[in-house]
Amino acid sequence: MVQNAIEIRGLQKTYRGGRGEPEKHALKGVDLSVPAGKIFGLLGPNGAGKSTMINIMAGLVTKTSGSVRIWGFDQDENPRQSRAAIGVMPQELNLDPFFTPHGALEVQAGLYGVPKAQRQSDAILEMVGLSDKADAYARTLSGGMRRRLLLGKALVHGPQVLVLDEPTAGVDIELRQMLWRNVRRLNEEQGTTIILTTHYLEEAEEMCDEIAIINQGELVAQDSTRNLLGHIDQKCMVIQPAGEVDALPEAEGLSVERRADGALAISYQANATSAEDVLNAVRASGISIQDVKTEQADLEDVFLELTRSR
Ligand code: ADP
Ligand code: MG
Repeated sequence: MVQNAIEIRGLQKTYRGGRGEPEKHALKGVDLSVPAGKIFGLLGPNGAGKSTMINIMAGLVTKTSGSVRIWGFDQDENPRQSRAAIGVMPQELNLDPFFTPHGALEVQAGLYGVPKAQRQSDAILEMVGLSDKADAYARTLSGGMRRRLLLGKALVHGPQVLVLDEPTAGVDIELRQMLWRNVRRLNEEQGTTIILTTHYLEEAEEMCDEIAIINQGELVAQDSTRNLLGHIDQKCMVIQPAGEVDALPEAEGLSVERRADGALAISYQANATSAEDVLNAVRASGISIQDVKTEQADLEDVFLELTRSR
């Protein structure tokens, strides 16, 4: 057993700009270690470089410079072993329309050199809930079923590391639950290291032991989920004042912003300040409240906050 399932050092990726577009520096020298046996979340806003990083690990995108070790195997020195250790469920639904789910798993197993006798196609179909579609053509599968099949394909060679790139973006609750159940089971029963990207903070909070945050091609934070989400436990209360506002509410831990419509957006850390504290500060400043609502901290705000504070 290795200590780190993934070790990335100085990873850079520059996409060449096509047709008059400038080149894009998608990864600007990222160092990242993912401990073996964990469920690890890679978070970041759109365009941060998450898929680029994952696709480099998967061998689907060529890095510009830096090194990637998967399960102890350097991608350049031991390409076969490093590839065998990782399975990736990509963000894009790229399936060959002419294969059935069973056929697609068999072909994938063949590509990874899994001998016929050791293939688990039926068990995998069962696991992802596609047994009854085993012989249907991929083009007749719904979006959700295609996602299930992509998960199945990532598992054919029994990889030590399973990577899921935004597996739950835009999927229904049932599929989301199926995915998380399977992911948890693989992690607990087989010790599979899981790396996932997600847009949903609550999902990362619920699933992940440890989280890294990437923004504009740079790693801005990495910590246990508890430490990190404690740090970004930001809430926002929006107060519509009933009349003129002479003075803004003031209290330790509150940051108050006036919006164009006259509302006051008050941000605070929920673990340090209660909603009651916020309301008390508002009343103390002589403001009478016409309406009040709360907003979840926006993931974008959270990233900005983290980028600023480190
Ligand atoms: P994320 O998955 O975090 O949303 P991506 O890795 O997909 O981010 O993209 C990172 C940046 O690289 C973005 O600015 C994106 O537009 C750019 N990019 C991604 N793929 C390509 C490509 N094939 N060619 C050019 N630019 C790309
Ligand atoms: Mg992506």
